[in-house]
Amino acid sequence: MNVLVLNVGSATLKFQVVVTDAARIADDRDEKLLRGQIERIGGEAVITVRNGDGSTRTRTAQLREMRAAVDWLVGFITSPESGTRLTTRADLHAVGHRVVHGGEAFRASVRIDDTVLRRIEDNVELAPLHNPHNLRGIEAARAALGSGVPQVAVFDTAFHQTLPEHAYLYAIPYPLYRRHRIRRYGFHGTSHRSIAYRFRKLTGRSKRDVRIVTLHLGNGCSACAIRGGESIDTSMGFTPLEGLVMGTRSGDIDAALLDYIAAKEGLSLPQVEALLNNQSGLLGVSGLTNDMRDLLAEANELQDRRARLAITMFCYRVRKYVGAYLAALGGADAIVFAGGVGENSAEIRGRVCEDLEWAGLTVDATANAALVGGREGRFSAEGSRLEAWVVPTDEELLIARDTYRVLSSEAAA
Ligand code: ADP
Repeated sequence: MNVLVLNVGSATLKFQVVVTDAARIADDRDEKLLRGQIERIGGEAVITVRNGDGSTRTRTAQLREMRAAVDWLVGFITSPESGTRLTTRADLHAVGHRVVHGGEAFRASVRIDDTVLRRIEDNVELAPLHNPHNLRGIEAARAALGSGVPQVAVFDTAFHQTLPEHAYLYAIPYPLYRRHRIRRYGFHGTSHRSIAYRFRKLTGRSKRDVRIVTLHLGNGCSACAIRGGESIDTSMGFTPLEGLVMGTRSGDIDAALLDYIAAKEGLSLPQVEALLNNQSGLLGVSGLTNDMRDLLAEANELQDRRARLAITMFCYRVRKYVGAYLAALGGADAIVFAGGVGENSAEIRGRVCEDLEWAGLTVDATANAALVGGREGRFSAEGSRLEAWVVPTDEELLIARDTYRVLSSEAAA
């Protein structure tokens, strides 16, 4: 099955074309024909395309809105220029969408129909910055490919729907949960699920035997405690703001600070929330950048004090969550790193793992240093009771596979 995977943001569209089916999934032979992104949709859009052979091309096109962008994309994919060998729109068999918020309605990926669309709309209130764009992407794909091409929604929140009540509720008056659905939803679920699944394959474990802490450390960051292959706790909450220190998000803070910052700085509450989302984290502490690579250079080469401080706070918070989740799980077999920082920075991984000997973790520094640029593997020392791994996340692949699985199980039924 040729699946078009779409991840639609406000002015950005990330895409991938994946060939997948049961046999390919079983042998890990899915074929990635093309991937890329269209940025700055609304005007002169910038399109970056990377083919299966790794070659990258950039170009621009006038794309006024998402519908035009998806239509252009489908035309490009099926043109000889794309190098995909797909020649007509009918060669695209299905579309898989990343949808940020599934609320409590979706515990798994689903085929999109009118009922599902309405339920995604119901969750717009919970994810006003994301779900409307995801919906626009679904409409655009339907317009470009026709309603005969099935579409599947894969939710960022779905993997965390297994959290027990005591982990997903906030200790605030219970009626607030009933009335307004206020609870921990967690995000990055597709990523944590992808990491856990790959870890399981690499170590030959059954799903039941997966007991790990996964760390998605990118621009957004979250930790997840996984037992029996299921998420039992995760660091992002009602929104992605909670938990770890991120590129521009504060992560955990005292809720009383909202009002205090508003009063002291003469800001409205939405402005304070924006400050915590967009001007905090690594950027806020360092005063320099949200980019970990640049921050490491500032700290190591220029000895910038606040860059160092931001990095120390970042690593400390991750380690604190690892400790908490080891307790929540009653011990684990491994901690697993992923995301742009987790997959590329041996320094950050090393610092997170410092002083975890008490938990049975001994790092092999040479193995750690070798795991960069998309390599996967273990970097704890031989015989370490708690293992440490790098397992690159592949959300797009999981979305493509889910799309195939949802549609083929439907066909079987
Ligand atoms: P997003 O959450 O936006 O998908 P990514 O997972 O791509 O982000 O992660 C982006 C982060 O990864 C940036 O802070 C970037 O600096 C960092 N990163 C990428 N490569 C390295 C590296 N070699 N060393 C340290 N950080 C890196």
